[in-house]
Amino acid sequence: MGYELTDETALVTGGGSGIGRQTAKRFAAEGANVVVADIDTDGGAETVEQIEADGGDATFVEVDVSDPDSVESMVETTVDTYGSLDVAHNNAGIEGDNAPMAEQSLENWNRVIDINLKGVWLCLKHELDVMAQNGGGAIVNTSSIAGLSAAGSTPYSASKHGVIGLTRVAATEYADADVRVNAVCPGVIETPMVEQSREKNPEAIEQFVGMQPLGRMGTPEEIANAVVWLSSAEASFITGNAYPVDGGYMAL
Ligand code: NAD
Repeated sequence: MGYELTDETALVTGGGSGIGRQTAKRFAAEGANVVVADIDTDGGAETVEQIEADGGDATFVEVDVSDPDSVESMVETTVDTYGSLDVAHNNAGIEGDNAPMAEQSLENWNRVIDINLKGVWLCLKHELDVMAQNGGGAIVNTSSIAGLSAAGSTPYSASKHGVIGLTRVAATEYADADVRVNAVCPGVIETPMVEQSREKNPEAIEQFVGMQPLGRMGTPEEIANAVVWLSSAEASFITGNAYPVDGGYMAL
């Protein structure tokens, strides 16, 4: 605690579950007005309920981050609702099908890249425009250890490497406008995404967890801690970086 975001407006995609839900809750706990954006209306509404129950202010906006009109409208609704956009966590993502490269389908490639990579670009495109006009802001994109290493399947790993590329370009192009852009690279984190993966292939998850020297999965709260810090004035000289939050996975 202690990252003052009072009266700031924060937007979180994928805010209806897992990591995004915890980030949205932390932003609200730090005093921000929060837009919880997700394709899952039930999950998004539940996050808003939880924030309101804790005395925070939040609004749900339905979005498909792979749809240009939907993303444009999400950012417009954010500004219309709260009058500004100061902080954004571009976090919505899917794992897609796990299979060796030669067995990957074009359909799975297109779906994962559309949501995980094009989706982050579309969000950045509209957020950067608003923030640059309003005197600055801070953005954190969710990449992965699969964006820094060969962890993960073909389209997932490619999309998460791409998110770091987008982060670096956005940070350098918009530094003059006082917009900072960073990425977090979670290791294996206990969320519904990993739960579904574990049901399909428990050995693979155990193997990844075994490669995290801290010897356990991370929690969504531990990723939210990093996102909120990177979004706050405490990180005022940090931009264009990708931070592993991975129990030591990338150190091996
Ligand atoms: P999750 O499945 O719990 O949450 C993902 C959220 O994104 C869901 O609420 C889902 O409805 C939403 N979403 C999916 N497609 C969308 C779309 N087209 N438009 C809008 N919203 C959409 O998963 P999570 O683990 O919290 O994952 C959050 C992010 O963290 C993802 O980008 C994921 O790739 C990344 N990540 C997760 C882990 C992990 O171990 N859990 C590790 C590294 C990176």
